[in-house]
Amino acid sequence: MEYADIIHRCFRCGYCKFTREYQDFNCPTYRKFWFETYSPGGRMWLLRAWLNGEVQSSKRMAEIFYSCVTCGNCVEHCALDFRDNLVDIFVAARGEMVEKGLVLPPVRDYLKNIRIHGNPYKEPQQERARWADGLGIEQYAGQEYLLYIGCVGSYDERGTKIARAVASVLKKTGLSAGILGNKEPCDGNEVRLLGESELFQEMARQNITMFKELGVKKIVTLSPHSYNAFKNEYRELDGNFEVLHYTEALNRLVEEGKVSFSGLNETVTYHDPCYLGRHNDVFDAPRNILRAIPGLALAEMSKIKKNALCCGGGGGNFFTDIIGSGEGAPGRDRIREALETGAKAVATACPQCAKMLEDAAKAEGVEDRIKVMDIAEIVEAAGMRTAAD
Ligand code: SF4
Ligand code: SF4
Repeated sequence: MEYADIIHRCFRCGYCKFTREYQDFNCPTYRKFWFETYSPGGRMWLLRAWLNGEVQSSKRMAEIFYSCVTCGNCVEHCALDFRDNLVDIFVAARGEMVEKGLVLPPVRDYLKNIRIHGNPYKEPQQERARWADGLGIEQYAGQEYLLYIGCVGSYDERGTKIARAVASVLKKTGLSAGILGNKEPCDGNEVRLLGESELFQEMARQNITMFKELGVKKIVTLSPHSYNAFKNEYRELDGNFEVLHYTEALNRLVEEGKVSFSGLNETVTYHDPCYLGRHNDVFDAPRNILRAIPGLALAEMSKIKKNALCCGGGGGNFFTDIIGSGEGAPGRDRIREALETGAKAVATACPQCAKMLEDAAKAEGVEDRIKVMDIAEIVEAAGMRTAAD
């Protein structure tokens, strides 16, 4: 295994499972299961023992590695200099499991559906653009940006509503952008995180070729997961596109004074999606948009930005649900934190987070006390105005 020579450096001090101030546990799986093996350091020791042949492969071991949501909290808070490799090490452990045929049934099904259908929902490719029906969104034909939607925005019931809001908002700003419609492929971010690096590379290479043939230079994404794949992983395969998350594109227009808002009298808190925030350092753009809305009060949770608690959907768990639901599910913890702020809405900027948090609010029985909204949905509710209005 690629990282075998550094795994022994972890001495299980346990700093990685806390927040920066070491006042609260912040590894979502440790918080859910309360076993050391479900903490980052515990995973490191288990992996070392596995590589040394001291423990045998088992379903339980696969659950321990596949429950990691790759949130990156441990990368921020591990005390040692190999910290940047922690998530990569856990993904590499999944890679070993894929090679040895030790994947769990939901992981196997996810990967099979991607191979057969090109998406995890088993939906036909010719239905991929149905989310955009009636919106008049242009097909990509050399516009400045390719607007990339992703599988969740294209097929998931909650995701399609967010896709419609994001595309409508961007269209109204006049941003020069087009979609690939029924030709849009899966970005592969979760394929890589679930340990199928070969399939990911095959998908990424095909997508890069397609984008280049179409003349794409700039991409604006709906999902932080696609953003992460294009910005960090495609680059290593010679896919050098300028990549923006839609909140960055929108925030630029806010800062340039090209869009403004009528207003929204609401107290809102903001949940940082791990693949936008911790993995890619986009913390301010979504907050700046919210702060630009007259009447909106931003009430921050106690754990934000690099200390944010994951919703529980990262690393493929949105699809595989290895962590499972119940009292200690990360999304439910996060909703309780959001409620403590007194906010009536929790904003986020990721369709996976929105769905996870909405389900969590229902499980907590508080969906009447707190709404879960994407930033684009808040922008629509706040009456976005442009020079044309
Ligand atoms: S991963 Fe880092 S912080 Fe966590 S137990 Fe190991 S050395 Fe300590
Ligand atoms: S990436 Fe997140 S879930 Fe995985 S071990 Fe690190 S802190 Fe825990």
